[in-house]
Amino acid sequence: MPLGLLNGLRYTASRVVKTYLGDFKHLGRRYDEKLFKERQSVRGSGIFTVQYPEERLIPPENFRFIPFLVYEPALDENGQPITDPATGKPVIGKQRCTACGICAKVCPPQCIWIVRATTPEGKPKPQPAEFYIDIDICMNCGLCAEFCPFDSIKMDHVYELAGYERYISHVFDIHALSKPASYHAQIHPTDWAREEAERKAKKK
Ligand code: SF4
Ligand code: SF4
Repeated sequence: MPLGLLNGLRYTASRVVKTYLGDFKHLGRRYDEKLFKERQSVRGSGIFTVQYPEERLIPPENFRFIPFLVYEPALDENGQPITDPATGKPVIGKQRCTACGICAKVCPPQCIWIVRATTPEGKPKPQPAEFYIDIDICMNCGLCAEFCPFDSIKMDHVYELAGYERYISHVFDIHALSKPASYHAQIHPTDWAREEAERKAKKK
């Protein structure tokens, strides 16, 4: 038998054995979050089945589902974000979006709809009054996030968005789409660090 084939079989057999060893190690601690993370990391070995929905795979940083709009939170006198007690989310201080419309232009299935805000005199303002994304038409390509010149639209990791109705609840408005910059920092730490470094370099 060729050596390559034997090596392949040896590798497969070792994965099978490691799977059972892993199961034994996790006996009685199936849903322990720390162990689950370890098993999904590069230190994990063997093959295992994710017991969804009790367990969920941790999405990698560049995983992309529906886009979200990044906003800077309103700050109190101590410079801390103000939280809305009704939603538990930081209050919007400023949307990063300037309603330039580039994301809507590059979106292949044309599922972004933006209405630019205006002054009382009717002059256009660099901010969105309305912003909609039809999440059933979005094909999760991430082009909107790639092309946005203001780092204001990013791809989210939330993927459990199924529903019984698609015409109202699946057309996300500006409230459903808006998430604080701290959320972007949390799910995209590498991107966030790069963007912050670029921002600081521009200020110099
Ligand atoms: S490209 Fe960015 S700034 Fe321009 S409209 Fe889209 S999200 Fe807003
Ligand atoms: S991810 Fe792609 S399809 Fe979805 S809104 Fe952005 S550009 Fe459009």
